[in-house]
Amino acid sequence: MDDKQILMIPGPTPVPEQALLALAKQPIGHRSSEFGCIFEEVLQNLQWLHQTQNDVLMLTASGTGAMEAGIINFLSPGDRVLVGCNGKFGDRWADLATTYNLNVEKITADWGKPLDPEQFREKLEADTEKQIKAVIVTHSETSTGVINDLETINRHVKTHGEALIIVDAVTSLGTVNIPVDEWGIDVVVSASQKGYMIPPGLGFVSVSEKAWEAYKTAKMPRFYLDLDKYRQFQAKNTTPFTPPINLMMALQVSLQMMKKEGLANIFARHQRLMNATRAALKQLNLPLFAPDNVASPAITAVAPVQADTEQILKIMKNRYDIALAGGQDHLKGKIFRIGHLGFVTDRDILTAIGSLEATLIE
Ligand code: PLP
Repeated sequence: MDDKQILMIPGPTPVPEQALLALAKQPIGHRSSEFGCIFEEVLQNLQWLHQTQNDVLMLTASGTGAMEAGIINFLSPGDRVLVGCNGKFGDRWADLATTYNLNVEKITADWGKPLDPEQFREKLEADTEKQIKAVIVTHSETSTGVINDLETINRHVKTHGEALIIVDAVTSLGTVNIPVDEWGIDVVVSASQKGYMIPPGLGFVSVSEKAWEAYKTAKMPRFYLDLDKYRQFQAKNTTPFTPPINLMMALQVSLQMMKKEGLANIFARHQRLMNATRAALKQLNLPLFAPDNVASPAITAVAPVQADTEQILKIMKNRYDIALAGGQDHLKGKIFRIGHLGFVTDRDILTAIGSLEATLIE
């Protein structure tokens, strides 16, 4: 692999040079005033990105670590939870919740289809005893390229009144609008290698007041992922444990870039890249796995009817140095996925589409 590779998997994404330069700096101490100044700015910008006044806690973890923190801090063994499952990451929520002995009720849809908010409404309405403690959903289902209707599901949760809403926004934060305070989303989980445009290693969890109330009575063992520790240390602009300092410095840079671009422009950019990708793939007569009206702005999954997806990925990599992703679990060999989030550019899309066309002509 050399510098010229075009990385178009749905994370990690390419990293802007300014952020790479931050990674190459000498580390600084995480108890120093210099770190404190940088972290203070980072924390403010994380709230800006999440459109929230809630705490946004930064963990040294991948997205799954942030998901785990999102479960064990707010729930107790035996709690009834509704989990949306229409892809690999919805299933991961269900596995995690089962691991911690939650009483998991899955709301399912076929992979490639969106979750039906009505099914959530029915369950929540029927729950007159208010036994459902949380509704857990994946916003952008990276395994299929489907975006779930979080706004409507969340509205039903709000009508119920008691349940927390816990959201995997790993490939939606920084790619599509999630107004956390306006919608009242309690827990939002994300990770550095996606819309944030920096390498993997940092996980983020935003926590509402209502979720902190639930924290007080939640009874699961936790130590490294105890979010109250992070809250207390972040109040002093530092972290409870040694963070990946250079990654945090790169985050400072990428958040500055994002702020300069503005949220509306960031969302419009992802829409444009998605539209361009989908339009071009249709021209190539390639079936798209997710329908237009539920397509994720972060990733497009393609389901070629005749071509061998593994062969396509191989040629794209070996001849054109473009990395695309295959299908996951039972979709391996059946679909391939094009990531167009983070620091992927219009030119990358054009290059990938042209190369794909040449690959298919072979
Ligand atoms: N959730 C979603 C929607 C993802 O796309 C991913 C990773 O691709 C994860 C969770 C898990 O993140 P990680 O691999 O960083 O643990």
